Amino acid sequence: MKQQKKTILGIDIGGTKIAAALVSNGKMVTPVYTVKTPKGKKILNSISTFYEQFSKKYLIAGIGISTAGMVSDDGQIVGSTGNIPGWQGTKVKSILQKKYRLPIVVENDANAAAYAEYQVGSAKGANPLLMITLGTGVGGGVIVNGKLVRGAHFAGGEIGHIKLSYTKQRLCTCSRYDCFEAYASGNGLLALIKHYFPEKYKSVSTRQLFKLSKTKNKNSLLAIRAIEDWHFYIALGICNLFHVFDPEKIVLSGGLGEEINIKHLTKETSKLLLPALSNSIHIEKSILGNNAGLLGAALLASQSL
Ligand SMILES: [Zn+2]
Repeated sequence: MKQQKKTILGIDIGGTKIAAALVSNGKMVTPVYTVKTPKGKKILNSISTFYEQFSKKYLIAGIGISTAGMVSDDGQIVGSTGNIPGWQGTKVKSILQKKYRLPIVVENDANAAAYAEYQVGSAKGANPLLMITLGTGVGGGVIVNGKLVRGAHFAGGEIGHIKLSYTKQRLCTCSRYDCFEAYASGNGLLALIKHYFPEKYKSVSTRQLFKLSKTKNKNSLLAIRAIEDWHFYIALGICNLFHVFDPEKIVLSGGLGEEINIKHLTKETSKLLLPALSNSIHIEKSILGNNAGLLGAALLASQSL
């Protein structure tokens, strides 16, 4: 027999996997199941399979989808999905709405994650809240007065592409130069490894760099300097964003977010801010981890019930 409590199907579509779970009152009520991300529109088949499986046991009241790429207000994928070929242009919301006749929300993954941080994360209720995801790329989301800043062209929160320089030193994945992402992402960190370890950079991964910085040998000082430079670039990006949004709290997430030394980053950022703001910065790490996107999309969908 189906459980009568209304649940939301939360789905997170990433470049390598699709994750799904049922969410009720901001909490996951099933384990998170994953499948490998198929090409382009076949993703819709994966969503249907998840729906069919979960709906055998639960009453599904809505679907919240968090996805890589820019998403229009009417739930179409409108840009930046290089890691999911063939997904751009898909009218996800209208296709699913016709099929299931349920409230459907489709949101950019970093925006959805920021919303989860605001609703149930460590920075619950912060106004404004700025979330920064540090991983292979750099993403983010901004919440002002409890609402996502989605922008006029659906690019609100695309903080990875603010500029840290004008000297054309670092090529970004977006084809422009010197974006925040080109310095603060995993690729940015690899560029620092190449700078500090010119002869053996190919054998040093970002994970090894962090390990090396905690050991005591002749290379550990170089590793520490590379990590300090990386923190400095992140501080520059945060400083620029701080002066636009004046966030109450900044949340760091993503695989590399876990490696940040909060105390050091706060100190470096404070030195760059307007002097009057130097004690105003509050940075913390996400407590929601990888499931923030899925959770945020489900929370957004539950608003429309
Ligand atoms: Zn860029």
